[in-house]
Amino acid sequence: MYDDIPYVALPSGKEVPALGLGTWNMGETRSSAEQEVESIRRAIDLGMTLIDTAEMYADGRSEEIVGRAIVNHREDVFLVSKVYPWNASATGTVDACERSLARLGTDHIDLYLLHWRGEHPLEETVAAFERLKMDGKIGDWCVSNFDTDDMEELFAVPDGRNCAANQVLYNLSRRGPEFSLLPWCQQHGVPLMAYSPIEQGRILKNHELIRIAKAYQATPAQLALAFLLEREGIIAIPKSSNPARVEENRGATDLDITEEDWAALDAVFPPPTRKTALEML
Ligand code: NDP
Repeated sequence: MYDDIPYVALPSGKEVPALGLGTWNMGETRSSAEQEVESIRRAIDLGMTLIDTAEMYADGRSEEIVGRAIVNHREDVFLVSKVYPWNASATGTVDACERSLARLGTDHIDLYLLHWRGEHPLEETVAAFERLKMDGKIGDWCVSNFDTDDMEELFAVPDGRNCAANQVLYNLSRRGPEFSLLPWCQQHGVPLMAYSPIEQGRILKNHELIRIAKAYQATPAQLALAFLLEREGIIAIPKSSNPARVEENRGATDLDITEEDWAALDAVFPPPTRKTALEML
């Protein structure tokens, strides 16, 4: 048994789990499809019911894998998908959403994101999102890879304040958002969704992370995720196509780290002391 997953409230009041599942790279090869479906189902069983995908991932085949995994589980899942910036025009957004819905095998996406900023004016994309919302094809919309100044611009366009979240690169080794973006989002009630929360595995070899994790009979991935879960208004979406690792990541809720150990991690992964441009992968 695991501790409960904390919940994060979206501006609408809807609560979503602070620990979900990413699916980038799923759907790339046919031979791994069964295991990917199994991983998503394991995540759902364990309460990591926020599933993040995108039209970009494996050219839509990640959405197809998610669609297979959520058959008979649609109502248990909070489904997140994304539109390419070059599709995010008035009609292009709606068309892209329809294609995603078909691949996902559902009639609605719970949260639909602009993947990153592109050439279409924000007003146009927001208007298209609002139309999709009115038509019941999406529950909410939000953005991704938006820095503080992008969020301010967004909030200045009609209905821009309806943005439900911002999905950005945030983990122990990428703490830049803590300087101004995270405080801005917290002040405006906009949850931050942390993508690549274990830095695609790269931080797991860090000696201090390993040492501290061991002291709690935990793994480095669990400690890296606990760092995010500790913070107000953060949703972490680690990806794994391996059901055993999904279980391991789920265990991140069970760590109770002392102030002294957080300080030791700060020494190796220092918080930012000045504003730096938002990084993206
Ligand atoms: P993650 O930080 O989630 O790392 C995923 C990698 O780590 C995979 O190679 C996975 O391998 C491995 N892994 C997972 N759990 C463990 C573990 N416990 N121990 C060791 N290795 C582990 O990186 P992602 O870039 O995938 O980010 C997560 C999600 O965020 C994406 O899948 C996607 O949904 C979203 N995203 C959004 C972006 C955006 O621009 N909006 C950009 C990037 C990501 P394996 O599968 O074999 O377990």
